[in-house]
Amino acid sequence: MVVEKVIERVISRDPDQKEFHQAVKEVLESIEPVLKKHPEYLKAKIVDRIVEPERQIIFRVPWVDDNGEIHVNRGFRVEFNSAIGPYKGGLRLHPSVYMGIIKFLGFEQIFKNSLTGLPMGGGKGGSDFDPKGKSDMEVMRFCQSFMNELFRHIGPDTDVPAGDIGVGGREIGYLYGQYRKITNRFDSVLTGKGLKWGGSLARPEATGYGCSYFCEEMLKARNETFKDKIVAISGSGNVAQYAVQKVNQLGGKVVTLSDSAGSIYDPDGITGEKWNFIMDLKNVKRGRISEYAKKFGVQYYEGKRPWVVVDGPIHVAMPCATQNELNLAEAKHLVDNGVIAVSEGANMPTEPDAVDHFISNKISFGPGKAANAGGVATSGIEMMQNHIGTSWTFEEVDRQLHQIMVNIHANSAAAAAKYGSPGNYVVGANIAGFVKVADAMMDQGVI
Ligand code: NDP
Repeated sequence: MVVEKVIERVISRDPDQKEFHQAVKEVLESIEPVLKKHPEYLKAKIVDRIVEPERQIIFRVPWVDDNGEIHVNRGFRVEFNSAIGPYKGGLRLHPSVYMGIIKFLGFEQIFKNSLTGLPMGGGKGGSDFDPKGKSDMEVMRFCQSFMNELFRHIGPDTDVPAGDIGVGGREIGYLYGQYRKITNRFDSVLTGKGLKWGGSLARPEATGYGCSYFCEEMLKARNETFKDKIVAISGSGNVAQYAVQKVNQLGGKVVTLSDSAGSIYDPDGITGEKWNFIMDLKNVKRGRISEYAKKFGVQYYEGKRPWVVVDGPIHVAMPCATQNELNLAEAKHLVDNGVIAVSEGANMPTEPDAVDHFISNKISFGPGKAANAGGVATSGIEMMQNHIGTSWTFEEVDRQLHQIMVNIHANSAAAAAKYGSPGNYVVGANIAGFVKVADAMMDQGVI
């Protein structure tokens, strides 16, 4: 294997960053056919360079809670690759955040952003701050302190962060307010902004909608549609919420949702009033998914993930919560129960041996960097609107998003076929994303 040495070096340099190793291995192994065909990439050490972030920033984030006590969190921003555009990628607030998570996400982001066809490089950031159980004022003080350092590294043509786990409209608002206060600038330095201050219609919907559009394309390629399909979705945050809405519109029936404590199974489908309840529960009350089971009299499975709680067939699975949330045993259960397509709304939610199981059983498997690229694509569309000083309608943004997802599907399928793995979207997405960035790096010399 031509990439073996690079993988070994990545591991020995940062032995504790296991999620980053996982992401690097998956990408590098699948681009082998390209490297064999294009030895010039190896000669120019493109692979050695692409696994090393251009810049990594770690900083102190002190903040004061409602009782006057001082806390100190750690902030991160990894500016991974800017060969095709300014660094672009979300901020994650979750206690599990450390450099290995941020680097895995930043690395994935390089190829995802390339796949969108828009001029965006890859970056990612966040903190080990846990927003759960914090008051609005505590979240605000944290975000202000975080921005007190981050502002000097970002800019509308340099690095443009957005949301991710734990960062939604509320947090983007506090971050943007502080950026504006410190810099005296009103520019498009963040995406996911509020509609009244530069945000784009359809940005909140974009990742969940895009993941559903990608899945629809995979189904079409098998002469199938969402109509009457039983769909299992995990998570109940931003991505999951809008995946539910779009799958419902496309004729599927979503029967599960989850959070980090457990899953609900609603055989009648999560639609109408029930979907409104989830939106209020998760975005306003910030409550637990178990409350859905109490409210609507359905089953709640403490500590279980959606893949194993459905009584009967599951045709489509959409993991939309977090990394490594679907393992081999669960993949086997899904295959045995009739799954034909898996579309990843989250980043790297499926463990590597589970991915192999799906692919070897001819399940259409849409990897996150393709299937969830609708979020960052619509962030790119938000930036375009900011640059030309306009706002497009919901229908116009949704039309562009839909077209981008159709293109990503077609380009991934074409690259997979060209390099000898027809139907393998993992290989296709990695290759299609890699080639554009590699060519840009070749053009720009050794930097
Ligand atoms: P949210 O914070 O809105 O929701 C996250 C959901 O995942 C919650 O239901 C949360 O449950 C659950 N979750 C988080 N951590 C864990 C865990 N360790 N185990 C089990 N469940 C967990 O985040 P998003 O919906 O924005 O993001 C979800 C995924 O989608 C992430 O992988 C993110 O990187 C990816 N993504 C998001 C994009 C976006 O535009 N927002 C774009 C592309 C990808 P709980 O409340 O209990 O923590």
